[in-house]
Amino acid sequence: MSPPVIGVLALQGDVLEHTRALQQCGARTAPVRRASELAEVDALVLPGGESSTIDKLLRRFDVMHPLRERIAAGLPVYGSCAGMILLADRILDGIEGQQTVGGLDVTVRRNAFGRQVDSFEEALHAPALGAGSSDAPMRAVFIRAPWVETAGPSVQVLATVSTGPATGRIVAVRQGALMATAFHPEISGDVRVHRAFLDLVHAHR
Ligand code: GLN
Repeated sequence: MSPPVIGVLALQGDVLEHTRALQQCGARTAPVRRASELAEVDALVLPGGESSTIDKLLRRFDVMHPLRERIAAGLPVYGSCAGMILLADRILDGIEGQQTVGGLDVTVRRNAFGRQVDSFEEALHAPALGAGSSDAPMRAVFIRAPWVETAGPSVQVLATVSTGPATGRIVAVRQGALMATAFHPEISGDVRVHRAFLDLVHAHR
């Protein structure tokens, strides 16, 4: 079987950073802007950026509907930050009329960590992401990040915040072939999340 092609949704956001991280892990990548390009990939990354903008562009370029269909058919998708919001079935604090692609049985709260802490870093222990107690913790960068407010029974929690007022909040999840993080591994230089996603892609082939 030829190696899978990992698409990176290239409408807005951290497209280049995800592409680099995936290539660093040895993956073949392709930008996805159109339904015809979506049809050519074996998996997809939804980058960090602005979820309401990406939502509008997905609808304007007629990619929203084909993407929902492919997710329903089992396409592996990883979303970081705005990408997590886009994968969520339900959002809190979205803008008027904001839609999501959906697929993940979670409710996410947009900009959940509050205006006073726009951006912060946190050392996360997340064994399922290759950051167990005997490994180096994962340096997670949060930028106007969402959190998962509630998760359905088939959702596996991969990481929670372990210090400060947001302790216990869910920031990484997986459900079937879908994976999402509230933080941005594409800009921290730690490719363990991308590796975990590539493992998921191989497991679903
Ligand atoms: N707050 C942004 C949104 O609602 C997400 C921020 C990010 O991706 N860094 O989409």
